[in-house]
Amino acid sequence: MQPPPAFPGDPLEAVDTPALLVDLDAFERNLDRMAAETTARGLRLRPHAKTHKSAEVGKAQIARGAVGLCCQKVSEAEALADGGIGDLLVTNQVAGARKLARLAALARRVRLGVCVDDAGNLAELAKAAVEANAQIDVLVEIDVGAGRCGLRAPEAVVPLAQRIAASSHLRFAGLQAYNGTAQHLRRPEDRQAAIAAAAVITRQALAALAAAGLRCETVGGAGTGTYAYEMAEGLWTELQPGSYCFMDADYAANGAPPAYEQSLTVLATVMSAPEAGFAVCDAGHKACAIDSGLPRLASHPDVALTGASDEHGNIALPAGLTLAVGDRLQLIPGHIDPTVNLHDWYVCHRGGTVEAVWPVTARGAVF
Ligand code: PLP
Ligand code: MN
Repeated sequence: MQPPPAFPGDPLEAVDTPALLVDLDAFERNLDRMAAETTARGLRLRPHAKTHKSAEVGKAQIARGAVGLCCQKVSEAEALADGGIGDLLVTNQVAGARKLARLAALARRVRLGVCVDDAGNLAELAKAAVEANAQIDVLVEIDVGAGRCGLRAPEAVVPLAQRIAASSHLRFAGLQAYNGTAQHLRRPEDRQAAIAAAAVITRQALAALAAAGLRCETVGGAGTGTYAYEMAEGLWTELQPGSYCFMDADYAANGAPPAYEQSLTVLATVMSAPEAGFAVCDAGHKACAIDSGLPRLASHPDVALTGASDEHGNIALPAGLTLAVGDRLQLIPGHIDPTVNLHDWYVCHRGGTVEAVWPVTARGAVF
């Protein structure tokens, strides 16, 4: 891990670059807003830590009423448990004896849940839980339209749920019903229609469970782009938005959800301005993910970088904008989750002064 690019008390001008910069006022407003929209209405909020990979951010979310965090990877869950988070759901299938053993060992330290969509995988999970003498909550994942993981037939939840219920060290906790592709649809009406379709499938699965006499405690799902629609359906009990804490340019382009503010930027420095109308900053795609488009200038959100190589970010300057060597830029990443994973530290500031420096606890946790 690299030393932090700044220390508490530093002025923003002293922060070394490229660095993840968190505007604490905007960040806290985002956290408060989601807590008010969900927990205050009696819904369980389990924010997804794939966005922030940070025990500090997780603790701030839990302090506002979140029941725990979601993770995508076992190693992410391990790092967050080490950081003091006590209730974690791996919103994924975990395959392979080695990983399952780690998952089961982790379940002895924290309250832990995981998703399944396969009888063979479930048998291996049950075996790992017995061997570790650990209790694991299990959600059966159904495909609600994204065509990724999850049972394709909603009635197929019943035999899996029965096997979970019959396993001494597993508990049938409910359904995972998350539509990932719906999050990034550009038009709100398309996102709404996708979640209406997801609700039809989820209702079928719930009816099949009820007919078999199986209680479904949790229906999990929802992200920043659609949570308002899942809330309105009244079926989902546990919401999993991740990006809302920081936001990104892709969500801004969707206009969704408008109340959430861009609280994270990548701070960069202009390191070359070799010709009129052109500048190069020190944040390329090793500092800012470009899978959802090149980053935009926070000061001019209509202006995006025009090129990025590993360590260089190029800007063809529009008329009226000049940049000189040493100028500082705040970049709005196209996609927040993979951008955070490129950095070891968050530099958190308020009113122009660095207030805290937080590690990206689970950076690089891809196992
Ligand atoms: N839930 C699951 C299972 C996810 O995979 C994701 C993101 O991919 C989320 C929730 C959070 O989505 P977002 O960051 O768009 O809020
Ligand atoms: Mn994402």
